[in-house]
Amino acid sequence: MKIDHIGIAVKSLEEAKGLYTRVLGLEWEQDEEVHTEAVRVSFFKTGESHIELLEALSDDSAIARFIDKKGEGIHHLAFAVDDIGAALEKARVEGYQLIDESPRRGAGGKLVAFLHPKSTNGVLIELCQKG
Ligand code: ZN
Repeated sequence: MKIDHIGIAVKSLEEAKGLYTRVLGLEWEQDEEVHTEAVRVSFFKTGESHIELLEALSDDSAIARFIDKKGEGIHHLAFAVDDIGAALEKARVEGYQLIDESPRRGAGGKLVAFLHPKSTNGVLIELCQKG
């Protein structure tokens, strides 16, 4: 199972982008607003994986609350799965706490579902399947 992307919560996409493009030389892929999450995201390619920068679009978005509590930084790890339904069911059977009982549409039209960090050693884990 490969890491699809690493999600990083930032206060400003525009300010954060320079590090990934000008300094680290990553290729910018796309910006997208995910209104259901009240976030604007920016993707960069790194090898077979991606970096996802996330900026809050409103004060009550999960990213705004995360930054208030912990500051900017790594927000989640996303693993690419072939069958997100099966992967979610396996996590449930193994006793992990699900944030999403069933997959939903995330950035890039992918199907995504999150596992609660309380049950995963403090790491918010995203499962994602190409849409
Ligand atoms: Zn993500």
